[in-house]
Amino acid sequence: MRQSKVFIPTLREVPAEAEALSHRLLLKAGLIKQSTSGIYSYLPLATRVLNNITSIIREEMEKIDAVEILMPALQPSELWEESGRWEAYGSELMRLTDRNGRQFALGPTHEEVVTSLVRDELKSYKQLPLTLFQIQSKFRDEKRPRFGLLRGREFIMKDAYSFHADEASLDETYNDMYDAYGRIFKRAGINARPVVADSGAIGGSHTHEFMALSEIGEDTIVYSENSDYAANIEKAEVVYEPKAHDEALLELEKVETPNAHTAQEVADFLNRPLDQITKSMVFKVDGEFVIVLVRGHHEVNDVKLKAYFGTDNIELASQDEIINLVGANPGSIGPIQEKGIKVYADNFVQEIPNIVVGANEDGYHYVNANPERDFNVEAFGDFRFILEGEPLSDGSGEAKFAEGIEVGQVFKLGTKYSESMNATFLDNQGKAQPLIMGCYGIGVSRTLSAIVEQNNDDNGIIWPKSVTPFEVHLITINPKKDDQRELGDELYQALQASFEVLYDDRKERAGVKFNDADLIGLPVRVVVGKRAAEGIVEVKRRDNGESEEVAAADLVNYVKDLYEQI
Ligand code: ATP
Ligand code: MG
Repeated sequence: MRQSKVFIPTLREVPAEAEALSHRLLLKAGLIKQSTSGIYSYLPLATRVLNNITSIIREEMEKIDAVEILMPALQPSELWEESGRWEAYGSELMRLTDRNGRQFALGPTHEEVVTSLVRDELKSYKQLPLTLFQIQSKFRDEKRPRFGLLRGREFIMKDAYSFHADEASLDETYNDMYDAYGRIFKRAGINARPVVADSGAIGGSHTHEFMALSEIGEDTIVYSENSDYAANIEKAEVVYEPKAHDEALLELEKVETPNAHTAQEVADFLNRPLDQITKSMVFKVDGEFVIVLVRGHHEVNDVKLKAYFGTDNIELASQDEIINLVGANPGSIGPIQEKGIKVYADNFVQEIPNIVVGANEDGYHYVNANPERDFNVEAFGDFRFILEGEPLSDGSGEAKFAEGIEVGQVFKLGTKYSESMNATFLDNQGKAQPLIMGCYGIGVSRTLSAIVEQNNDDNGIIWPKSVTPFEVHLITINPKKDDQRELGDELYQALQASFEVLYDDRKERAGVKFNDADLIGLPVRVVVGKRAAEGIVEVKRRDNGESEEVAAADLVNYVKDLYEQI
């Protein structure tokens, strides 16, 4: 295409709030434009890349017998009432009302719709397994939309759902999807790693996330250098081996700790190491307040709490709730209390005696507190995040950390939706059984951003061949000069037989054109300039910057060879 006819509004300056590199590059190279927070238009170059990504996805889905459909984005609230998620999904669900007062959601995901779609049709084990997928815009009113396409409120997802008569069949499709996802990300030019993830409080038993390694990633991956262990930090188990200690239990003592609110401040004030201080956090679990204890250098992992308590409905109590509950501020909470609030403690709280805990009175702590003697612990468990360097649960050595962007997830749902929504089939004994389900998502627009996050240099994007919006960038430095324009036009015709060509025929300064070309980042650049009259052009690779002068007559073959090597 002639660049003069394509809409590529490149920018010299990007808004300061664009923190992520991929967000800045996508704005700068004129691929996306924000409509409002978390909502973007995809301009021509982005649309072409998205089409390439979705082609790869479609090919790989077809290989594993997943069939494409397109379900409505507008979903009636009744379906969400059936699954119980109209309430449970909370404020992330975009809700709206039609002219007759009926309520709808803009689909954030499609388990409800797809379950209602198949439940009337899939009646016999003979129709199973079945895997359906779609590529569509999803809507989530994210609390913190950010990083451009990485966390949007409207974004494109490939979502697939599979239906099975038994677990073995689910396992098979799950493994097929897992392998297909590996191929999709590799083909799209992403270095992604599958990690074991948390499957949430209810439903699924087994899930992996695919993480594109990147500093900007919002997820921390815990991995081993000696094995293939890799887990989301939310899920990574902390190994606890009880250690006996022979220290004497000292007498409980209430001490003044004025102005010391955080564990670090208390440690500093009492002149004790941070790991001797115990943090007490108040959580509301299904409406009931509980105290969770962790050592000062540890952090509570709320995902593990959700798994432990078997509910998604867990949140940190607010300051007001805490003051109402115990009459003290959050920084002074402790397990020694007469209110009967249940106390749960991380395993490592038992590792040392004579700990420091809040006294449930502002400005005071207890020193030399000991569980059982001074307070009851309902249960000890693994309630915290693993630290880098701690032993891994597979016994392979120390935990290493990396940051990742979740580009996809595969999930064994089991019968969560088929049971609540009454989607049954008749098994080979003629008995009605709930359908066994799996679901599998890829963030298509997030993947676009992750590709840019991993493929760039100081000058701009470096598109992998598999998804590049065009293959060759042909530039005439000065189209006002007849020899340049004529040779440019001629080469444009010739190259188009073998390549998707973006032809920069604009009447812009050479500097502007080169800057734009670097930003846009097509794999090969052909420049028609001063030596046009001699029939000589310059060919340059975007990835390593190597360039060569080539005779125009040989250009097509030269570029074909070069393109093979990239
Ligand atoms: P996250 O933990 O990042 O919020 P999620 O686990 O809620 O994501 P899923 O429900 O598994 O997301 O959705 C499938 C895929 O859709 C994710 O793996 C991710 O790639 C993509 N995705 C989810 N939320 C967003 C978003 N707000 N913007 C862009 N892509 C998203
Ligand atoms: Mg997910």
